Amino acid sequence: MASESKTDEEFPKSLTNICNGPLTECKECGLDEKLMCRYELKDTIIFIIPFIIAFVPAIIGIILSGYGLWLIPFVGYLLFFFLIWENRMLCSHCPYYAEEGKTLKCHANYGFPKNWSYHPEPMSRSEQIQFLIGVLIIIGFPVLFLILGGQYSILVITLVGIFLWLGVLLFRACKKCLNFSCPLNRVPKKTVDEYLKHNDVMRNAWEEKGYKIGA
Ligand code: SF4
Ligand code: SF4
Repeated sequence: MASESKTDEEFPKSLTNICNGPLTECKECGLDEKLMCRYELKDTIIFIIPFIIAFVPAIIGIILSGYGLWLIPFVGYLLFFFLIWENRMLCSHCPYYAEEGKTLKCHANYGFPKNWSYHPEPMSRSEQIQFLIGVLIIIGFPVLFLILGGQYSILVITLVGIFLWLGVLLFRACKKCLNFSCPLNRVPKKTVDEYLKHNDVMRNAWEEKGYKIGA
């Protein structure tokens, strides 16, 4: 059941494609207690703080170690990853991609353009592997250059930030994320099934790929 503390004003009246119904149904549905199916700014803040703790010192350390020019291809890779590659293999399968408008309105990639069409079916095995490789490159780049540059104290701060970030992902964001086929997703099957009953487009696409509700 939805939290008693929520007021009607907290539930927007506009339509969304996050699920079948208008958001006015959220109060009765209550799934937003278990899932991030309604955008909340606090989720973005919690997601982004450890990312900043990890990557801002890493960038400073790479510049101090004389490898600053390598940040140019790294930034190019980040743009490619977030705007093109991840946008297709991960985000295009997420219900947030089905929302109206040209940009995402989710906790992790708020404001990023939707450069592909929506794919309600689950991620393929190849896409899951691509996602893990893409994330490993993002983590591996600063770690490699901090080691090469001998910036060991900054490396420790970066690693703490990376572990904090992974902790936030695995113990918070991934336990409530709507992109159930992401390899990091940890939403229990019972909750996935409950949600799919609220999203016919996604449910049909998943069942066509062999998913069974309640199995
Ligand atoms: S599944 Fe839909 S109706 Fe239920 S809480 Fe989430 S957005 Fe609201
Ligand atoms: S919640 Fe995650 S998978 Fe879904 S659109 Fe946002 S960043 Fe992509």
